[in-house]
Amino acid sequence: MSSGQEPEAVIKAFFDNALSGREAINNLEYLCRQTPGRLPGSQASVRAVRFAAEALKKAGADSVWLQEVTVPKWERGRESCTVISQKKTTSLSVSTLGLSVPTVPGGIIAEVVEVKDFEQLKSLGKENISGKVVFFSQPADNRLINSFSGYAGVVVFRINGASEAAKYGASAVIVRSATQATHDFPHTGVTRYQDNIPKIPAVAVSPSGAETLSSLLKSDPRLKVHLITECRSFPDTISWNVIGELRGSLYPDEYITAGGHLDSWDITEGAHDDAGGCVQAIEMIRLFKSANVKPKRSIRAVMFMNEEISGTGGTTYAAEAMKKGEKHYAALESDRGVMSPRGFGFDAEGERLQKLSELSSYFRPYNIRDFDRGGGGADIGPLKSLGALLIGYMPDTQRYFDFHHSANDTFEKVNFRELQLGSAAIASLIYLIDFFDL
Ligand SMILES: [Zn+2]
Repeated sequence: MSSGQEPEAVIKAFFDNALSGREAINNLEYLCRQTPGRLPGSQASVRAVRFAAEALKKAGADSVWLQEVTVPKWERGRESCTVISQKKTTSLSVSTLGLSVPTVPGGIIAEVVEVKDFEQLKSLGKENISGKVVFFSQPADNRLINSFSGYAGVVVFRINGASEAAKYGASAVIVRSATQATHDFPHTGVTRYQDNIPKIPAVAVSPSGAETLSSLLKSDPRLKVHLITECRSFPDTISWNVIGELRGSLYPDEYITAGGHLDSWDITEGAHDDAGGCVQAIEMIRLFKSANVKPKRSIRAVMFMNEEISGTGGTTYAAEAMKKGEKHYAALESDRGVMSPRGFGFDAEGERLQKLSELSSYFRPYNIRDFDRGGGGADIGPLKSLGALLIGYMPDTQRYFDFHHSANDTFEKVNFRELQLGSAAIASLIYLIDFFDL
């Protein structure tokens, strides 16, 4: 197929090919099953980097290279949380939050203060909190239609809860997992300590564990928890972004990127977050190649390292692009899971947004209709200052937080057709933006 082909035919070729091939599924299976727990600096993350580079070569990239990134290194150890109430003990499912400090050897045994938010924490004050474990029990607001909005409302307790509680002398925090789910999987994620505030251990408790703790506290407000976390921080280390490129035929020095992040939390296969996004970027290269579509601009699949802890993959990529004077035309991120594609969010307005929205007509045969303002992503955010149009891939996200940062995010939770449809949608959008110079 030549670049003289009608866009509709190119898009159909992308979808046909994506839905006929096993490449995406095989790549996803490898990342999930052979490199689970791809925390930055881990052995699994190094294996994932090697695999992703090979997969990009196989997909037909003209060049593939690794870009060095400085990353933090943190490891979980043994962890447990036992409630001691009226002479009986109840074990809760917990996961230490990333970058947390450990408990003292043998753990902490202390009373628990349940709070809904930072206001309540403040009103209780030092006299009620000092020496105790603070339990942030607020669930995500299930009434919010956008699941990311529900998540955003409670993730602040995971991120800032430890330092906020430490200001009043708390000895540790237990945070209800940031999810709409009600299962017994704890959802981990990074926590951030403020400067000049004592660092206290922080764990997430599963949603059902949070319900259990709340109800035990109602019948026995003086109960105690025995909390053990044996995590460790190490000095920063080196890892890599993985980049594959198809050289542009007309403007080879202008770049359009699509990608996701290769790292994941240590307790999970990270299928939806975000092996799937990486696989879709590899697929984009393969789909262009197999349809023999020669882009005008250079197209890059970029798999970022360390999105989960401190985002140095994204900042390093942008800094190097800036240093080399690269013109980044557009950048797309797929990091909202690999459920069925709904559309794209564009960080644009006015006439440009109007033109981008009109691209939805090409996607109607595939039931992809939501072309709105919004989008972007943590890894591509830094490319905005280089003038890149930021684009977020928008699948249906209702189930995303059933998986996010938990051991529930496994290979078999991905529907293959949804993964394939997403790959084709991303390749098609990138093709259209390049073809029409949007
Ligand atoms: Zn992610």
